[in-house]
Amino acid sequence: MKNKTVIVTGAASGIGKAIAILFAAEGAHVVVSDIASAEGEAVVKEITLAGGKASFCKTDVSQPAEMEALVNFAVTTYGRLDIAVNNAGIGGEINPIADMSIEGWQKVIAINLNSLFYGMKYQIAALLQHGGGSIVNISSILGSVGFAGSAAYTAAKHGVVGLTQTAALEYSAKNIRINAVGPGFIDTPMLSGLDAGVRNQLVALHPIGRLGKSEEVAELVLWLSSEKASFVTGSYYPIDGGYLAR
Ligand code: NAP
Repeated sequence: MKNKTVIVTGAASGIGKAIAILFAAEGAHVVVSDIASAEGEAVVKEITLAGGKASFCKTDVSQPAEMEALVNFAVTTYGRLDIAVNNAGIGGEINPIADMSIEGWQKVIAINLNSLFYGMKYQIAALLQHGGGSIVNISSILGSVGFAGSAAYTAAKHGVVGLTQTAALEYSAKNIRINAVGPGFIDTPMLSGLDAGVRNQLVALHPIGRLGKSEEVAELVLWLSSEKASFVTGSYYPIDGGYLAR
């Protein structure tokens, strides 16, 4: 990763933060992108204090112009783009379909799915300028199975897998590898609102007997982004403590 330029969206918290910190520790120049400015700046400070290189760029991933500006920021700041990790996402409204609000549906689709199209549209153009690179899109176990109460989230995460496969078909011959990752339930601020009972129910869905850690997901993203995964493209990699094996 030495001197590679990496964009990580949603990097102020949870999985994105762990990815940003790991890539920086491996020598990458990291563009920490998030809608949350103070938390994003704090991640940059943590990386810089550890001897790494990072800059913050405030971005609402649901806005196409902001995703274009994010890519321009990376290229202006570090000279080129090599890797993008499209990670930002929200859990969104929990309700059965007949009770789900239109706004709740639209918000999740905008942040968890539309954002990846906007992101890849501008990231791919920048990657092509320097001979290629790699994109990792964060889906979920809910990119391959359903989950009652989370129709919008599940539809968006399935969409991420299809979008990833299509992008890989379009750009693998142009030296851009594009893959998706499907985490099981990971212990991040996204799950912090859950009471102990619901949390225990979620743990029980993972044969390994616990929730995942952000750092575990970051290791898979690092590998997929690196030359070690040079023959891997168009893939969907669950990292789920056995959730999908049940
Ligand atoms: P997290 O801790 O809540 O972090 C997500 C970050 O994205 C937060 O800093 C959040 O800011 C930011 N964000 C929200 N809306 C945004 C927007 N419109 N534009 C830019 N940034 C925005 O979540 P996480 O658990 O690390 O999840 C990261 C990714 O992994 C998501 O795509 C999620 O769907 C996926 N995932 C998570 C799990 C899990 O169990 N945690 C499982 C499978 C997949 P605010 O805090 O200000 O909203």
